[in-house]
Amino acid sequence: MNPQPIKKVLIVGAGIAGCSTAITLAELGLSVTLIEKQDQWRFQSSGIFVYSNGLRALQQVGVLPQILEAGFALPDGKNIYLDHSGALITNVFYPSVSPGIPPILGIKRSEIHRILAGKLATLGVNIKLATTVTRLNAFDPSAPANVVFNDGNEETFDLIIAADGIRSQIRQLIFPEISPRNTHFGVWRSVHARPAHLRDKYMQMGIGKRLGIMPISDDKLYIFGTVPEPGNPWFDPQDWPRIMREKFAEFQGPARTFLNEVSEHSEVLYTVVEEVAADLPWHKGRVLLLGDAAHASTPFMGQGGAMAIEDAVVLKTLLQRHQFQTSVLEAFGTARYPVCRFVQDASRKVGEAGAIEDAASCLARNHNMQQKAQLQVDQFYQQLETLNSFKGVTPNHHQETKQ
Ligand SMILES: Cc1cc2nc3c(=O)[nH]c(=O)nc-3n(C[C@H](O)[C@H](O)[C@H](O)COP(=O)(O)OP(=O)(O)OC[C@H]3O[C@@H](n4cnc5c(N)ncnc54)[C@H](O)[C@@H]3O)c2cc1C
Repeated sequence: MNPQPIKKVLIVGAGIAGCSTAITLAELGLSVTLIEKQDQWRFQSSGIFVYSNGLRALQQVGVLPQILEAGFALPDGKNIYLDHSGALITNVFYPSVSPGIPPILGIKRSEIHRILAGKLATLGVNIKLATTVTRLNAFDPSAPANVVFNDGNEETFDLIIAADGIRSQIRQLIFPEISPRNTHFGVWRSVHARPAHLRDKYMQMGIGKRLGIMPISDDKLYIFGTVPEPGNPWFDPQDWPRIMREKFAEFQGPARTFLNEVSEHSEVLYTVVEEVAADLPWHKGRVLLLGDAAHASTPFMGQGGAMAIEDAVVLKTLLQRHQFQTSVLEAFGTARYPVCRFVQDASRKVGEAGAIEDAASCLARNHNMQQKAQLQVDQFYQQLETLNSFKGVTPNHHQETKQ
């Protein structure tokens, strides 16, 4: 006889992964508690872009119309590559996974969370802010997991999902040997008013640096610049606007207007780029890692958020397929590892190509992009689709994911 099926789930962390998973699992009729250590919903106003596969996953989470309404979709998926002076290198068009789903969309992070939180509110998910785990006993797969929260309350769950991000506390408890790896890149971001004519994604490839521009709403865009930081310096947040301007001082073309706007009144963010390239298993006992806690990627492919949302959709599919038994935990890692590792590897390579620091090699890279950039983009997305259909676990299986 099968042991008791999974009925009651605790999700730790209400980021993109945690909120999406709370939605997909609540839709299965599971009892879901979602805890978040922040005492209120507080998310960056900076932007994020979501490619077509991530938008498809948002469709399956049931929020695509609201996302399309709040964000800024590029209907033809055009990315204009320029050098740092603003001279054209080439244009590339991102593909769409299916008609009706744009190739790419930019959106404020806070808008994604507002929309996911709105959907959660309709599903009866028990959401607890300012809450975290202080003790966890979940290592015996044959018994329910026991959790003690920071308010002293104690509760049992059939499954604990660690969606608590790159510095996951729960991962630290179950796999203390895994920690984020500093990739020695830094990313600078700021938000600006969007001129009406700016409707495409731009990527300016400098010498050792890249700077992108992406619309995120009808009236806003954000810029994001990447620089190698081998010494892992610490920058005082008060100085971030000045340092951002200095780091990209040589950039002209469309970036120049926005760099000139960066002032001490701007909301500038600096982030050290890290990744978590954890081998399987991504579970232990009754605890499962997903989202950045399992597979944080460098941001150069803009796929980390999409991977987190796909995780939520795939876990739902697999729970049904495994009749809510704990065998789903291993199956989840088997299904998601090849996809997430592929993205991580590709993203690392893109980061390295953007960090070439001598002018001659940059010229050769730019020439190579003119010949091959479109092909490489197409191959990346084709391979992503192939891997996503690995063992039939594609987030496109509407039959299985529909209630
Ligand atoms: C500079 C940069 C740019 C990026 N750009 C893009 C992009 O354009 N497109 C894209 O798709 N991806 C992008 N990403 C990646 C994307 O941001 C992440 O992959 C995504 O946010 C992961 O979501 P998550 O929910 O797993 O983790 P997080 O977003 O980190 O959420 C984790 C949540 O858990 C909470 N938490 C943490 N610890 C605890 C605890 N102990 N108890 C309770 N709660 C806890 C946190 O407060 C947080 O709310 C970028 C990443 C970086 C660093």
